Amino acid sequence: MAEDKKITIAVDGYSSCGKSTLAKALAKELDYGYVDTGAMYRATTLYFLRHNIDLDNSEDVKNALCHIQIGFKSFEGKNCTFLNGENVEEEIRGMEVSNKVSPVATISAVRRAMVAQQREMGKEKGVVMDGRDIGTVVFPNAELKIFLTADMEVRAKRRRDEMLAKGQIVNLTDIINNLKERDHIDSTREDSPLKKAKDAIEINNTLLTKEEQMNMALELAKSRMEVRV
Ligand code: C5P
Repeated sequence: MAEDKKITIAVDGYSSCGKSTLAKALAKELDYGYVDTGAMYRATTLYFLRHNIDLDNSEDVKNALCHIQIGFKSFEGKNCTFLNGENVEEEIRGMEVSNKVSPVATISAVRRAMVAQQREMGKEKGVVMDGRDIGTVVFPNAELKIFLTADMEVRAKRRRDEMLAKGQIVNLTDIINNLKERDHIDSTREDSPLKKAKDAIEINNTLLTKEEQMNMALELAKSRMEVRV
């Protein structure tokens, strides 16, 4: 029997729609690599905050980008983001970075640097990548593109529970405001705005369990992996 071919899976969608939960589970099931591209924009934002980079100063931004090395490593059974060798997984998920990341992600020089690294990470295929522009810009030829959506209330509660589990107490209204603001900036920016790729399959997971969502995605992935003779 012919072996399944390796494919590229793009998972895009609005903030806190469960993209990383789905992408991680798919990668584990298929024994694929997983790349959380949002974490890369978050780590870049953290670097900019720590070094007081003026986002309007393109020279400063360009120079800072030369000093940013982002990687992923498993640590205590968890996929962690490393910025210049430091584990910043916790810090990049806090409200300070969340409130600043979307403006940083509008900067073309930042996007160019991130997209180049993402293409390198996914060049061998066999990867699940989640973000906002994976199916439209990073891998427009991905064999499977999923566009996730969910109702705002459900998204905000999921985000709150995630933060609570890490001991961070955040007001639901603050979370809703942050999600709305990020959705707006992400979908109206000039460079690589968040939008559903023409050939993406939309899954609204408001009423789906994680398992139901996963089964739908897995079926889709398997159908794209079959080698056609
Ligand atoms: O996925 P996450 O919510 O962690 O992403 C944080 C932010 O990074 C998004 O709100 C968006 O501004 C930016 N982003 C992006 N392109 C991607 C992934 C994330 O612009 N591919």
